[in-house]
Amino acid sequence: MVKSFHPPNRILMGPGPSDVSPRVLAAMARPTIGHLDPMFVEMMDEMKAMLQYAFQTKNELTMPVSAPGSAGMETCFVNLLEPGDKAIVCQNGVFGGRMKENVERCGATAVMVMDDWGTAVDPNKVEDALKANPDAKLLAFVHAETSTGAQSDAQTLTYLAHKYDALSLVDSVTGLGGVPLKVDEWEIDAIYSGSQKCLSCTPGLSPISFSDRAMQVVKSRKTKVQSWFLDLNLVTAYWGSGAKRTYHHTAPVNALYGLHEALVMLQEEGLENSWARHKQHHLELKAGLEAWGLKFVVKEEHRLPQLNSVYIPEGVDDVTVRSALLHDYGLEIGAGLGAMAGKIWRIGLMGHACNERNVNICLTALEDVMRA
Ligand SMILES: *Cc1c(COP(=O)(O)O)cnc(C)c1O
Repeated sequence: MVKSFHPPNRILMGPGPSDVSPRVLAAMARPTIGHLDPMFVEMMDEMKAMLQYAFQTKNELTMPVSAPGSAGMETCFVNLLEPGDKAIVCQNGVFGGRMKENVERCGATAVMVMDDWGTAVDPNKVEDALKANPDAKLLAFVHAETSTGAQSDAQTLTYLAHKYDALSLVDSVTGLGGVPLKVDEWEIDAIYSGSQKCLSCTPGLSPISFSDRAMQVVKSRKTKVQSWFLDLNLVTAYWGSGAKRTYHHTAPVNALYGLHEALVMLQEEGLENSWARHKQHHLELKAGLEAWGLKFVVKEEHRLPQLNSVYIPEGVDDVTVRSALLHDYGLEIGAGLGAMAGKIWRIGLMGHACNERNVNICLTALEDVMRA
């Protein structure tokens, strides 16, 4: 007979999921109540206010999609694009490629702006594309490219989108909570994130926020959103404020307790302090890695503190090292993706996993394993 599953305790220092705070796990074990229970609805209102804080926005439409970051991505595209529309998509890693897929599956055309993996999106190329495509409805880009560790300038890119009368659609799955992100000040129109990267929560939820301008576009569509589940016109009957909270789908009740607790923790720490903590431990890790000559993939000014990608030294086998770390130290670090597979490691310092103890464990374990 199959017995209960007991996962080992790991230290998660990859590209996500990252370590989950015990407080979040404890919150998730609390009793399940109805998703229309007045107490639950109160919790949803608190969660919305805390997400507005995390995103630094007053956007009315700020809520967690009941599915992972990829569903947040899809929510943004399917609601904003209609067949025949045109979107400019920046690609400097894996996730820009997924944006292209989303655009095309909406029946829209993707105009690609390509940058090398490991570099930030080049605003000059973006401006050229916006100039050449005055009919583009939106500009989509990844703020924090988890496949390489590069950070792009979301404020400048959004400014350019607006200069050419396009909306900005931003992936900050890995950015939220880890690096400065100011949705209102930067005037971002649509943004999605994830619960399992810098928010110290379990995977499976995707916070999103839409500006009033973006919601105007959603409300004035000529065609129905092709996804019934992700149609914000319908989802807002449950999540919208002042809404009567009518049934759309059963909210993942206990998962939302977890995100609520994660956001309470973020509020207690303070958003700026969370950004500073990610920066500080990144600098400690960087000092240790560079002390034995490891080289970072991304130029210093575009580096994400929460995702440290370094080249694997000559003669060192990727899989051997990562398996030894996992089996002997319970430590997970990330492998390279695509063309960077076998060539780089991606060491995450996200959310609850971003602390001095983890930095030291990682440096000691890597040194021991590489020596051996
Ligand atoms: C992790 C990630 C996603 C996808 O999130 P899932 O929760 O895995 O669906 C999207 N974009 C970026 C930049 C990510 O890091």
